Amino acid sequence: MPLRSAPSPRKRLLVHLSQAVETLGLRRAPSTHVVPFAGALHGNVKVQFFEVTPREFGHFENVSNALSRLDQGTYGRCECCNRRIEADVLIEAPWATLCRDCGHQGSQP
Ligand SMILES: [Zn+2]
Repeated sequence: MPLRSAPSPRKRLLVHLSQAVETLGLRRAPSTHVVPFAGALHGNVKVQFFEVTPREFGHFENVSNALSRLDQGTYGRCECCNRRIEADVLIEAPWATLCRDCGHQGSQP
């Protein structure tokens, strides 16, 4: 992915957010969810959904937190050492809260 043609972080985060909301919104449905399907011959498509996982919800939280940091002007700053997060880290994960050094210490599985 060429770095210089990357879209703005806000734009990328909004794309991620809408995907996360979509995932959560659909999966939170307790049972079979009926989706009106335009163009279908006979109405609706039924889809079975599963419980939302903590990982999916965590992703949603990460993305929405990143957007609020953009609004507050603290986006792109490491929460641990307060330095700027490397651009390529943010390209890979626009919701990153740690620079590469701190991230490698804290969040390894
Ligand atoms: Zn750091």
